[in-house]
Amino acid sequence: MEDDGIEFEPPGNSLEWKYLVLHHSATEGGSVESVDAGHRERKDQFGNPWRGIGYHFVIGNGDGMPDGQIESTFRWKEQLHGAHAGSRQHNRRGVGICLIGNFEETAPTPRQIAAVKRLCEWLSDRYGISGERVLRHLDVAATKCPGRLFPYEELIDELENRPLAVTAEVDHDAF
Ligand SMILES: [Zn+2]
Repeated sequence: MEDDGIEFEPPGNSLEWKYLVLHHSATEGGSVESVDAGHRERKDQFGNPWRGIGYHFVIGNGDGMPDGQIESTFRWKEQLHGAHAGSRQHNRRGVGICLIGNFEETAPTPRQIAAVKRLCEWLSDRYGISGERVLRHLDVAATKCPGRLFPYEELIDELENRPLAVTAEVDHDAF
């Protein structure tokens, strides 16, 4: 079902997203439900339990969720700040995207790579997020996430070198 990605549009008003932050689950398999269950056991710096899965999107790898399936979470549907980056600025303004798998050990599947590119392209276009604001978790916090086998350079290269979207011409001679 390849289309223009309109299914990602949140039902209500959007927050002002400025970053995309990429993660792996660091588990062999998983799903929105399994990550949600794990995150509910965590507490924030004030000792309050997390409200559930800290990411906005999860991309399955065929073990727990269909390979390459993109699923949005309650944080995206309700347009809530994330709990994923270990950086206040990036939690508030960053869309958290988690690919299931441990990319220190195995590479993402081809379908996951295609899915994350498609999702990042849509989010970049929708919120005007340029390539230098598409970050790995390790770019904003002390972590190996999303793992050494995550094809980050390839993703950024494709994002930055895609044909420009057609935009309205500004008439500079209007006055
Ligand atoms: Zn991470």
